[in-house]
Amino acid sequence: GDKPLVYLDNAATTQKPRQVIEAISSYYEQDNANVHRGIYELSRRSTRDFEAARERVARWIGAPDATEVIWTRGTTEALNLVASSWGMEFLKEGDEILLTEQDHHSNLVPWQLVARRTGAVLRYVSIDEEGRLELESLDALLTARTRVVAISHVSNALGTVNPVKEIVERAHAVGAIAVVDGAQGAPHLTVDVVDQGCDFYAFSSHKLCGPTGVGVLWGRRELLEAMPPYQGGGEMILEVEKEGSTWAALPHKFEAGTPNVAGAVGTAAALDYLEALGRDAILAHERDLSAYCIERLSELPGVRIFGPAEVMDRSGVVPFNLEWAHPHDVATILDTEGVAIRAGHHCAQLVMKRYCVSATNRASFYVYNTRDEVDRMIDALRVVQGIFG
Ligand code: PMP
Repeated sequence: GDKPLVYLDNAATTQKPRQVIEAISSYYEQDNANVHRGIYELSRRSTRDFEAARERVARWIGAPDATEVIWTRGTTEALNLVASSWGMEFLKEGDEILLTEQDHHSNLVPWQLVARRTGAVLRYVSIDEEGRLELESLDALLTARTRVVAISHVSNALGTVNPVKEIVERAHAVGAIAVVDGAQGAPHLTVDVVDQGCDFYAFSSHKLCGPTGVGVLWGRRELLEAMPPYQGGGEMILEVEKEGSTWAALPHKFEAGTPNVAGAVGTAAALDYLEALGRDAILAHERDLSAYCIERLSELPGVRIFGPAEVMDRSGVVPFNLEWAHPHDVATILDTEGVAIRAGHHCAQLVMKRYCVSATNRASFYVYNTRDEVDRMIDALRVVQGIFG
């Protein structure tokens, strides 16, 4: 279109700073070779960059040891890895998996699949009017049969920041492991997996200014070592015999095949970029935009805002509906005004069902967004109001 773009769909994916794009092209121009194989200089350089990126990620999430950091295609693959490898090995009939109504499909469906195959039973923590997990119900839901609790650090459909540390402690108290979907956590909050106490933490690079197709699973060493490989292939073996094979040490046991080296390099560049901005400053900026957005949305008639009223309990995600226009119409008209927001179920259909809506609008902010852009969205919503209101 002819209108300058206002990009407010950062919970879906973020735009890429020049530093990230340059790190990726410079890798391909100067250092590209396969990793962990070559005995020549170029492969050594590629391997060095790839492993340095792993160390960079470890620092980002406070992981004590980079060999506990596994490269994946993204959050989805990381969570499937845990559900499939840990779940198929350790879950049996009658065991309970505790999920939440708040979660993204990628933290629900892998557990549903493994439940079907193992006979494990699914339980759900419900959410209250403001999109907070109903922790009072945890007493009843956490039992001696609970083997795994899977939650999100931050809800992509509501923006709620969950009290992960408390939930992890309570999961551990009944002997369950805690799996945290950090897709909306790692880009926006300071993450320290040791302090949080979780057993697994997953996130995607593309939601923190990095490239698509790459992400991370961090896992506790004892658990990763006890788990069987997720996929078989090159890189992940120690010795292959006709009847079977033995596995490489961590992290390579979980990294079958040629990895996304350029993706890892781009991820490290993205983390450097964000670190230079300062994580507290990023979160403060997002919360400022959320508060301003909520304030300005409230000027409109018939607006319903989802998620916690207290802005300190949310990140930079503002879901809302207008009584007088369907979310898909809203987003379509906003698009003609140059404003990109999301409308839909946000891969969280249980959230939609909880609030009896088929879809919501969602504005989501990141480091480069401004209050002026929020104003542009409000102006565009006035155009929608002129048509439907
Ligand atoms: N969990 C949450 C909370 C998310 O927001 C997303 C991305 N929308 C995912 C998981 C899945 O991430 P990806 O598509 O990058 O695997």
